[in-house]
Amino acid sequence: MRYTAILLLSVILISCTPSNRGNMASEGPANIIFLIGDGMGLSAVSTTIYYGDQVSEFSRFKEMGLIITSSATHKVTDSAASGTAMAAGKKTYNGALGVDTLKAPVEDITEVVSKLGWSTGIVVTSAVTHATPAAFYAHVEQRSMEEDIALQLLDSNIDFFAGGGTRFFTRRSDQVNLLPVAREKGFIMDTTSLAAPGSLDPDQKYGFTLSQGGMPPVLQGRGDFLPEATSLAIEFLSQNNKGFFLMVEGSQIDWAGHANRADYLISETLDFEKAIQVALDFAEKDGNTLVVVTADHETGGFTLSAKQDTLTGHGDYKVIEPSFATHNHSATMIPVFAYGPGAGQFKGIYQNTEIFHKMVALSKE
Ligand code: MG
Ligand code: ZN
Repeated sequence: MRYTAILLLSVILISCTPSNRGNMASEGPANIIFLIGDGMGLSAVSTTIYYGDQVSEFSRFKEMGLIITSSATHKVTDSAASGTAMAAGKKTYNGALGVDTLKAPVEDITEVVSKLGWSTGIVVTSAVTHATPAAFYAHVEQRSMEEDIALQLLDSNIDFFAGGGTRFFTRRSDQVNLLPVAREKGFIMDTTSLAAPGSLDPDQKYGFTLSQGGMPPVLQGRGDFLPEATSLAIEFLSQNNKGFFLMVEGSQIDWAGHANRADYLISETLDFEKAIQVALDFAEKDGNTLVVVTADHETGGFTLSAKQDTLTGHGDYKVIEPSFATHNHSATMIPVFAYGPGAGQFKGIYQNTEIFHKMVALSKE
């Protein structure tokens, strides 16, 4: 009896050794690219069909789901709570970043995958310290604490960041210039332009903040910053053979929704679509990269309504005249699109916190 037990134990131990695990077929992705269109509801996604000049990148996804975005405290979430839900798997109060309802820090996805040896990055069109990106590396009680968030970014696991927000590094109320601090912490920071493709050293960390606050809107000359920064990030991060996690945010779809500006919303969504294309093209070639696209919530109650005659009330169904129901966020369910190894996991209707749990489970497969 005792011998049998020892024999059984040895068999279990042998089958669990790391060298053995390497021989097992791994189903999870080596890399995850997670793209968030802030405020991008289904009507915003649909603008890539009606206003784009090529086949929508969204048609490349075969696996889709829906998430419920309410926060712990509000039916209608803000970007901090929903960012935290997706980045760290915890429902929290509106305004909270990387902390739970008791204000205790919660481990986020970049912290989890860093332990696996993965590299991590964020690319956004807001300040890099804004709510959505900050949910992926910071732990603060309120999203407005952007100077603290900038400090936390330099001490985080993030290896690459690009976006706006220079002023939170250089024009701070504590008078500290964080640019030399960033250098001490191993970051090569540039506040003027993105680096040229092929020029990034895998043994360095990089930070690009190319405007004082948010980046300019596409309509005001941002150009191809988002797809180019996404491409640069992928090129840099993919030098790590262990894997990488990259979060890309089309931050200003939300701002356009708040402003009830359809032209702004459409241009920002089409720009975000270019970043999706960069991610999908890489994933297609690489074959081992999971791409997930979703939003943190919908903004504006944006819809693609038929043009309505103001006098008769009749609709002209040949013409779309986008309209808004609110200057605020809404609670509508949000689509999730997934491509690559593990994409099937994202089917169904579930809470936004499941995004984190699914990504973590897949990263460990
Ligand atoms: Mg955001
Ligand atoms: Zn918003």
